[in-house]
Amino acid sequence: MAESKNLLYIGGEWVTPSTTNTIDVISPFTEEVIATVPEAAEGDVDRAVEAAKAALDGPYPRLSPAERADVISKLSAAIGARAMEFAELITTEMGSPASFSLMGQVFSATMIYDGYANLARTYPFEEPRAGALGPVLVRKESVGVSAGIVPWNVPLFEIACKLAPALAAGSPIVLKPSPETPLDSYLLAEILDEIELPKGMVSFLPAGREVGEYLVRHPGIDKVTFTGSTAAGRKVAAICGEQLKRVTLELGGKSAAIILDDADLATHIPTLMPSALMNNGQACVAQTRILAPRGRYDEVVDAIAEAVRGTSVGDPSDPSVIVGPLVAERQRDRVLGYIEKGNAEGAKLAVGGGRPASQPKGWFVEPTLFVDVDNSMTIAQEEIFGPVLAVIPYDDESDAVRIANDSDFGLSGSVWTADVERGIDVARQVRTGTYGVNSIATIDIQQPFGGFKASGIGREFGPEGLSAFLETKTIVLPGDYQPPS
Ligand code: NAD
Repeated sequence: MAESKNLLYIGGEWVTPSTTNTIDVISPFTEEVIATVPEAAEGDVDRAVEAAKAALDGPYPRLSPAERADVISKLSAAIGARAMEFAELITTEMGSPASFSLMGQVFSATMIYDGYANLARTYPFEEPRAGALGPVLVRKESVGVSAGIVPWNVPLFEIACKLAPALAAGSPIVLKPSPETPLDSYLLAEILDEIELPKGMVSFLPAGREVGEYLVRHPGIDKVTFTGSTAAGRKVAAICGEQLKRVTLELGGKSAAIILDDADLATHIPTLMPSALMNNGQACVAQTRILAPRGRYDEVVDAIAEAVRGTSVGDPSDPSVIVGPLVAERQRDRVLGYIEKGNAEGAKLAVGGGRPASQPKGWFVEPTLFVDVDNSMTIAQEEIFGPVLAVIPYDDESDAVRIANDSDFGLSGSVWTADVERGIDVARQVRTGTYGVNSIATIDIQQPFGGFKASGIGREFGPEGLSAFLETKTIVLPGDYQPPS
């Protein structure tokens, strides 16, 4: 049983919440309440934004980039020192399998902090340039106060996606974890205290959609960095558009893995499968549409069916388990609803399709494979966010590219081939933000990541990710200006 909390972390202080509202954190495996935490309300948002505005004029944003980098490195090391504790907590609060949690939930987050720390040490925050009429100085300054809204599927990782660049840029940030996964943010707050981060820089406000919207709309917020569903992203973007706030959106996906006719199935299918089902199928970059050449269709279907059938399901804390329960009852029902739709629209159910008989408790869905799927079907067009895969046949390479691109989304994707150059050629044609050639590592923590089309606006990671937390200022200097030697 995780420990219940009664305070909120606002601007680096542990404070009494403005209301008595609470959130029950429920284990997706036992269906029992494992902790209760305060639910942040509008008054808490006001307080956090005030603290952040004050911090903008405080010591932290005035640190040199190298000093800010040192703080981020310290934070990364402190998280790393408690990696197992974080991994176990995330497994408990949202059912992420232990086989994924340590690397996928925790070390992936410390790698983000390390990446931004390195970047802060080398990024050109101030650059003398030759202007049209004389010398100029181009400066990159903190965007101001940021609001970061994150989903529950990779909670610590998502906070890192927002907090690391904010700290590198000198932007105080108000973070809103999902109500399903507030516990890891409490542990992170303890660490921020431990490393003595200057007050005001960070607040954690676990709450739902309404409070999230209040935060986005708050006049004290200069920039919003949002990760979540495309539906919520549209609402956030509309508010930011109206208020001319800077906004970055990391949204849903429906990525296609193209198996080319020369692929070595014995090597490539086992490499691809962890991405298709990772984190119980709750990953934005999951390769959930598998495009198979008609000439080798049965062979591909057999290999994937065997892999899906062999996927172990059960207690997420058991290291041999690959697929644990889904985050919430509502999510389980949503996924089962998509399976019903797949059946109703004429897709052929090859594996799974229901709740596993071995798990009488917990919000499980069997690893499920549909074959003979037409790309126009709902299960091929909408993001399911569960362990459900669709195999879609294609005629030739250009047909495969056409099907991959026939999607509202454009977040990730991959191609599997014996000929890497042929794979790169396919990668050039698919309209998506990140792509793997014989690789499922479509998130490189030091390179830009984000979506085309309805998968988002803007990029995280790399210089592009840091730029999203910076404003650009051009200072025009006198023609005879000489910098001090
Ligand atoms: P969600 O959109 O329901 O919620 C995400 C977060 O936004 C939560 O904190 C929620 O409380 C908040 N929220 C919801 N509506 C809001 C609104 N109108 N205004 C302000 N805040 C609001 O998504 P979810 O179910 O928590 O997460 C799953 C989704 O996240 C999937 O679509 C997945 O693809 C996406 N995701 C994308 C990425 C990426 O990097 N592109 C990464 C992880 C998850």
